[in-house]
Amino acid sequence: MKKMTDEGFSGGAPPHDYDVTVIGGGPAGLAAAIAADQAGARVLLVEREGRLGGILKQCIHDGFGLIRFGEKLSGPEYAHRYLETLGNTGVTVRLLSFASKIRKQAGGFALTLVSRGGVDTLQTKTLVLSTGCRERTPRQVNIHGTRPAGIFTAGQAQYYTNILGQLPVRRCVILGSGDIGLIMARRLTLEGAEVLGVYEAKQSPSGLSRNIAQCLEDFAIPLLTGHTVTRVFGRDRLEAVEISRVDEGMRPIPGTGERITCDGLVLSVGLIPENELAESLGVWIHPATKGPLCDQRYMTMISGVFSCGNALQVNDLVDYVSESGIAAGYYAALTAERTTAIGLDRGAAGNFAELTTDETFLCLSPQRLDMDYTEREIPVFFRSREERGRTLLRVRAKGREFFRRNYSQLRPPEMERILLPLENLDLDPGDRIQFTLEEP
Ligand SMILES: Cc1cc2nc3c(=O)[nH]c(=O)nc-3n(C[C@H](O)[C@H](O)[C@H](O)COP(=O)(O)OP(=O)(O)OC[C@H]3O[C@@H](n4cnc5c(N)ncnc54)[C@H](O)[C@@H]3O)c2cc1C
Repeated sequence: MKKMTDEGFSGGAPPHDYDVTVIGGGPAGLAAAIAADQAGARVLLVEREGRLGGILKQCIHDGFGLIRFGEKLSGPEYAHRYLETLGNTGVTVRLLSFASKIRKQAGGFALTLVSRGGVDTLQTKTLVLSTGCRERTPRQVNIHGTRPAGIFTAGQAQYYTNILGQLPVRRCVILGSGDIGLIMARRLTLEGAEVLGVYEAKQSPSGLSRNIAQCLEDFAIPLLTGHTVTRVFGRDRLEAVEISRVDEGMRPIPGTGERITCDGLVLSVGLIPENELAESLGVWIHPATKGPLCDQRYMTMISGVFSCGNALQVNDLVDYVSESGIAAGYYAALTAERTTAIGLDRGAAGNFAELTTDETFLCLSPQRLDMDYTEREIPVFFRSREERGRTLLRVRAKGREFFRRNYSQLRPPEMERILLPLENLDLDPGDRIQFTLEEP
């Protein structure tokens, strides 16, 4: 088994020449690096933090791995399964190394890394971007007032509680009903803090149903939809917040403000895929997923650049994150094998069919099908735009329906996965595969 050093090199590959470089060592990056190694590539895995595992390191609750392992694991346990496998591969790992710049060049990419030893540049034929996502911060939410201590994103509150062992709040309000906020409502309650309520501006909660039941209902924590925080009070430390009702357009209703005394405001108001590196390369970001537009191999519009995990789209299940990592890593290895010294850029020009939706969808990926690859079926992920009761998903190509599935309900917070059969489709380049959600 190879050794992983703080920021040094490990594994057997020459340090400055890789087939596949994976940026980000969360569950997506771990899966991608292992898959690329197993496909025979020389692989580098780059992580800016001191330990691999990404967000899983701070998720000490269970519920991870139900699909992949048929078990309810904690985040660190789930990551450990991949770390054990990684230890038996030839993957070179660089920790405490920040990927700061990527430049396209003949036959691949030049990647600049910043680490404690300084700045260095290495060459790689292909890239897998698995940089995860970031949380919306207080400055991205319209709240009046001062900026006292005591306002945290849910991920920051989780880091304080689970990694540093410090309780960041004693009596708090949670704004937003995303999964991290729901999980932190339970976690802070278990640690002795008083969670006065979870306030959500939308008319329905944003988190998974199971988290609403297990994190709020089981602990009698109130969930108030149609409410938001409109003002914070306090100079050095938060002293109170003002909660107001909102109208259908999520605008605060004047005169409904109520002041609530608290020393903490925890924000769980959304995640945004982290794609600064991708954008610097000119990768096209899809407005619906906020991640790169990609094909069924997880390749972006730039040939040789792959995207997976939460950088591609915000996932609610880590199992899907790993699934995308495995595919991205495997296809990155395959692409590297076919890349010549001159390079092969057919990202925008190849034989593609488009996967299209109507307005009933919030998002769907992949958005294109590379017809030079002939899989019998491909995983497709989607979210509905609205909460829906019984619904029929229909998929058509060349005017003919070739796939349908019934759902008893669809909710935007819950990402759906189907395996789309592609056999006997006989598509031409530019054809559309059309997805609709209809009354059954
Ligand atoms: C609070 C919380 C609770 C969750 N609960 C569940 C659950 O119960 N069950 C479940 O299945 N899923 C759950 N999830 C979802 C799941 O954990 C995530 O979808 C998954 O961890 C995302 O993996 P990732 O590898 O894409 O991103 P991350 O885990 O965020 O990893 C990205 C990595 O990239 C690194 N990085 C970023 N930019 C750079 C750069 N420029 N250079 C070097 N490194 C970089 C980061 O440091 C990080 O380590 C939860 C998520 C959260 C946040």
